[in-house]
Amino acid sequence: MQTLTTVSAMQALAATLGTAGRPVGLVPTMGALHEGHVSLIRLARDRGAVVVVSIFVNPTQFGPSEDFTRYPRNLEADLAACAAAGADVVFAPAVEEIYPKGYSTFLAEEHVAKPLEGVSRPVHFRGVTTVVAKLFNLVRPDFAVFGQKDAQQVAVIRKMTADLHFGVEIVTAPTLRDPDGLALSSRNRYLTPQQRAAALALHQALHRAQSMVAQGERRVDRLIAEATHLLSQQRLVRIIYVAVVDRDSMESAREVLPGRSLMAIAAWVDEVRLIDNEIL
Ligand code: AMP
Repeated sequence: MQTLTTVSAMQALAATLGTAGRPVGLVPTMGALHEGHVSLIRLARDRGAVVVVSIFVNPTQFGPSEDFTRYPRNLEADLAACAAAGADVVFAPAVEEIYPKGYSTFLAEEHVAKPLEGVSRPVHFRGVTTVVAKLFNLVRPDFAVFGQKDAQQVAVIRKMTADLHFGVEIVTAPTLRDPDGLALSSRNRYLTPQQRAAALALHQALHRAQSMVAQGERRVDRLIAEATHLLSQQRLVRIIYVAVVDRDSMESAREVLPGRSLMAIAAWVDEVRLIDNEIL
């Protein structure tokens, strides 16, 4: 496994990667890798690809009062996890490599990015699309793997990739969960045992909505009311949003379209902001 830290080294390697006769798969991450990230790397490897993992805590996708400075970082453990999962290349640049002094170009998708996360984190997706576009330009992948855990992120990136003719296939990987249902997240390591127990309500609410749909419920207001009720039983949980939206456009509707609609939840568990979603 090769580890690269500069833009010029990544560009030089990218020029040769595509010539090996194997597809190039990119797995963008912010590090603090867990089994969810590892499943993305394995998915790329199982497609027979040369796998490039990027590890970059992207400052432009954090708002001014968010957790950029205290976001967990552990490059040594991350490199070991990448090697064990079968990555070929890790690209782990410093912030100044990606955003040198005087940097001033940003890319924003302006429709799918607006609701849900876009409301409470107004600069978030502009930062995500900017850095992913840069990674596409630097790595020149045939495909890139993103987790369904961040459903709106995948939808925004799909739209950006289509709108700008990037010619990169966007592959979505299922959400990996702990056995009790909590979606794996780098931010879970902020949780105390008590907060972690409260955080289970997110998955329980999603699961409840799925069961209601399986039993024939199609009214979105009923699903949202039930999920909201379950979440509000937890004293430590403060709801940011509970929504049912189309999986591609992120637009809300009054009726569930099974397989197309997803329920998305964002909530504070004390001071930790968590998101989760399930297709209904
Ligand atoms: P992050 O490091 O949080 O930016 O996540 C990097 C990638 O891993 C994104 O595509 C996420 O959607 C994905 N990811 C995060 N958590 C999970 C999970 N529990 N299961 C599957 N993929 C995940």
